[in-house]
Amino acid sequence: MSAVNQKLLVLGDEPQQVDLDHCVHCGLCLNACPTYRELGLEMDSPRGRIYQMTQVNEGKMEINDEYVGHIELCLACRACETACPSGVEYGKLVEAARSQIAAQRPHSAFKRFLYERLLLSPTLLTIAGYGAWLGQVTGLQALARNSGLLKFISPKLHQIEVFAPPSQPPFFFSKVGKTYPAIGEQKHRVAFLAGCIANVSFARMNEATVRVLQRNGCEVVIPGEQGCCGALHVHAGLRDLGRQQAKQNIIAVAGQGYDAVITNAAGCGSVLKEYPELFVGDAEWEPRAKEFSDNLKDVSEFLASIDFNRNFGEMRVKTTYQDSCHLLHGQKVKDAPRTLLKAIPGLDFRELPLSEICCGSAGVYNIEHTEMSLDLLQNKMRMADSTGAEIIVTANPGCMIQLQAGAKLYGRNQRVLHVVELLDEAYQKAES
Ligand code: SF4
Ligand code: SF4
Repeated sequence: MSAVNQKLLVLGDEPQQVDLDHCVHCGLCLNACPTYRELGLEMDSPRGRIYQMTQVNEGKMEINDEYVGHIELCLACRACETACPSGVEYGKLVEAARSQIAAQRPHSAFKRFLYERLLLSPTLLTIAGYGAWLGQVTGLQALARNSGLLKFISPKLHQIEVFAPPSQPPFFFSKVGKTYPAIGEQKHRVAFLAGCIANVSFARMNEATVRVLQRNGCEVVIPGEQGCCGALHVHAGLRDLGRQQAKQNIIAVAGQGYDAVITNAAGCGSVLKEYPELFVGDAEWEPRAKEFSDNLKDVSEFLASIDFNRNFGEMRVKTTYQDSCHLLHGQKVKDAPRTLLKAIPGLDFRELPLSEICCGSAGVYNIEHTEMSLDLLQNKMRMADSTGAEIIVTANPGCMIQLQAGAKLYGRNQRVLHVVELLDEAYQKAES
């Protein structure tokens, strides 16, 4: 590694041998791993990737294209963590391996713009959001797709267009900094972290989240100083940017005495809960991060932990639930969304076979590893179809985009909703 590159890697951000050594090479994680299930290759299994990280750590292997390929093809879904009886913290390892790679191989200009500018700027996100919205309402996006123009310009663009996040003006940014009172008696006071892209692409879902919390006796504060959670940065190995965003969000809620800090995005939640890992050994920020993370809850987890409002209208609809990897494997939250959905009268809940396997979304994975992502999505939709469900519910915006694409490409155009969106509909039904 060159001197310059060594400077880019903060000491301790690379995979730690003590963590790698927890792996006893038993292979019990292999069948839980989506890439191993698809390819059957040891080097694309958790055990194989841990072996390669060890080889790099011991100086027996270079960080070469082959190694980078195997690490990048990992979805960081953490299903292997759930399967592992030895407590290997694989998510931590793969993020550290990516941090080591990012120190040696700077990201492309597009990725640098995405991570360093777009995700961090409400102004740029708003501009991009209106641009996308214009493409939607003028029919330009559909025309480019259907006429074959997109395919002519770039087959790759044509392939990934189906994963383009929607644009939903009016954007949720206008609600950031505001407080919404509890409906009925106030029992809780919570802060809501609205995300970054979600403000533009899932503005209605964020509004539904606020309404559901209000109907559950919460005063909902949307702190004005909040920002992107840094999850995509941490997953991409950009831990310094992750730390920067963590500090911003910790400061945004510090000292306000909230009963809980709420997120509705499983991918964000998993990193928000792991902020302390970004500050190990930092006397000031590690305890502050711990205090923040101890109070952080996914919205389903929070609702299931209180005496939630069961005044739902009847919803006679067949519904299934796809576990979001970062809720199930990252945060170990399995029952809460099911408990909430099953409380809706009339709802015919059908378990999705293999719902613990990733849908292929995984942040920007679907645009970087489109073939693998589509293979996983096709399998997922086959399972979803087998349930006969008319609605597929999940717990993360990225999974929603992926499953919506799946419903169009391989499914029966099922509706795809976040847990809180279905709860919101059921509450509205009770009032209509
Ligand atoms: S995180 Fe997911 S894709 Fe990566 S090794 Fe583990 S199970 Fe496989
Ligand atoms: S990661 Fe865990 S389950 Fe997989 S091989 Fe290592 S010890 Fe076994």
